Amino acid sequence: MIIAANLKTNLTRKQTGEYLSEIENYLNSGSTQEVLVFPAISSLDSHTGKVVVGTQNAYATENGAFTGEIGTDQLDEFGITTILIGHSERRHVLGETQEELVKKFNFYKELGYKIVYCVGEPLEKREAGNEQMMQYISAQYEGIDTSYENLIIAYEPVWAIGTGLTPTLEEIESIHTELKEKSTAPLLYGGSVKVTNAADVLALHNVDGVLVGSAALYAEHFCSMIEYAQELENK
Ligand code: PEP
Repeated sequence: MIIAANLKTNLTRKQTGEYLSEIENYLNSGSTQEVLVFPAISSLDSHTGKVVVGTQNAYATENGAFTGEIGTDQLDEFGITTILIGHSERRHVLGETQEELVKKFNFYKELGYKIVYCVGEPLEKREAGNEQMMQYISAQYEGIDTSYENLIIAYEPVWAIGTGLTPTLEEIESIHTELKEKSTAPLLYGGSVKVTNAADVLALHNVDGVLVGSAALYAEHFCSMIEYAQELENK
């Protein structure tokens, strides 16, 4: 399974280094799970070990005049070849459009990056019923090569991110079934996953892993989630 941590704008470079060491120590005790960590951009660094470190964002460029952004020159410095694209905070807080995301997706796809591509509906779309909700999510697939071999999709309902609210397990299962028809890429669930619900979410047959924000900030909690995934796989 794939267990991913989005650290957002949290932890300093030093704290991130300590965090990654804790996760590596845990993984060395025999876990075979695929673990991805997306630190803040200022905490990116060369990393050796089992954890794959990715970037939360980058511009579709090698370098150039894009103030506040980074490109592949900066990512190459640390050997980063994994990127998160389409996270709800980039879509809804920072205003990235589908067109911009597609451009970014295609640029990093051409370079062979592992791409974790996020989709998910805001509350008003969910409340408008399944048809409108699915139409909204389908639009987030437009222009995206869903058969890209290095693609991972994360279904993250916007209203569940950082709120403590989650869809029911039945709802997650049902929407994952619909999303699996759009792409055979591994499909993660994200949105208020924590130690207390991770095992149940991971046990759903069409959930291939989780993308975790707040609860992943505690290395110990994140390791417990990796452990749940391992236990399920060993069953
Ligand atoms: C996220 O930001 O991808 C996320 C899932 O956040 P949280 O776990 O805090 O809801």
